Amino acid sequence: MSHCGRSWKDVLRDNVTDWVRLADYLELSAEQRRHIVAIRRFPLNIPLRLASKIAKGNLDDPLFKQFVPTTAENVEQAGFDCDPIGDTASRKSPKLLHKYRGRALLLCTSACAMHCRYCFRQHFDYDVKDKLFQAELEVIRHDPTITEVILSGGDPLSLSDHYLEALMQALAAIPHVKRLRFHTRFPIGIPERLDDSFLRLFDNLDLAVWFVIHSNHPRELDDDVLAALKRLQRKGVVILNQWVLLRGVNDDVEVLAELCEKMVNHAIFPYYLHQLDRTLGVGHFEVPEAEGQALIKALMTRLPGYAVPKYVREVAGEASKTML
Ligand SMILES: *Cc1c(COP(=O)(O)O)cnc(C)c1O
Ligand code: SF4
Repeated sequence: MSHCGRSWKDVLRDNVTDWVRLADYLELSAEQRRHIVAIRRFPLNIPLRLASKIAKGNLDDPLFKQFVPTTAENVEQAGFDCDPIGDTASRKSPKLLHKYRGRALLLCTSACAMHCRYCFRQHFDYDVKDKLFQAELEVIRHDPTITEVILSGGDPLSLSDHYLEALMQALAAIPHVKRLRFHTRFPIGIPERLDDSFLRLFDNLDLAVWFVIHSNHPRELDDDVLAALKRLQRKGVVILNQWVLLRGVNDDVEVLAELCEKMVNHAIFPYYLHQLDRTLGVGHFEVPEAEGQALIKALMTRLPGYAVPKYVREVAGEASKTML
């Protein structure tokens, strides 16, 4: 938190990006190290908070699997390519995707607090020219059907408060824009991001704010993360979670039930469980749909209805996510 003295930018600078340093820290054997690869286009990048949650010497740890590049990424699989969900076709300006009625998605930045190995945007050709979003704001201003703007990325919380504030105020000044949504994984790795300065951005903001975090495993939601999110909830921000069904990470009814229960115990709504998007290099994470459906069915026998997410897949060209 801000009162602990270190700013989120300081914490971010401590991210581990050198795999040898990580391997040493995790006490990996020479044999285990042979599974790790350096991927230059989407390198290792993990906050210390998450690295410290990985069990030592265990390549099967669910957090290790999410963040550490291994030789499995170099296995080519049919059907896995660079634009599996047709993002390129819905690009209305360099940083704006308009795929669904009423909702426009802003690619605020390519930067993230962490690199998730299964990420469907890891091959995306980001436009990183400026942070003023002039062209995107023009498109939104001239389309009265857009009632909600989603700040996505990358991770929108990579932007400094200065740029976020300008963007949020510009959006609030557009009469037909009623809702602002954040898609962010930042607080899972660096909860320090939700500091006083950030929280102040929501004072006097004339928009309903929905915050969609991304957490795949209950171990990601520790007390500091939950406390930071609670401060945001006290500002009247509604928090949802969307996450991805991942082989070896959360393809287990116990893990999913624990995650969902932890969320609802902290008034976080389990929104979407996504079927993996078939991006190049992520085949080893895929769980067959039938297995996912069985997991949802099992969850329904254990949890309140509102604690069970919608299991969905993104199909290129469809007018909404597709229910599975
Ligand atoms: C997923 C997505 C949204 C949001 O969809 P919801 O069903 O409203 O959560 C909006 N725009 C794009 C381009 C998306 O991929
Ligand atoms: S934080 Fe989100 S956008 Fe960034 S690498 Fe992870 S999944 Fe991808």
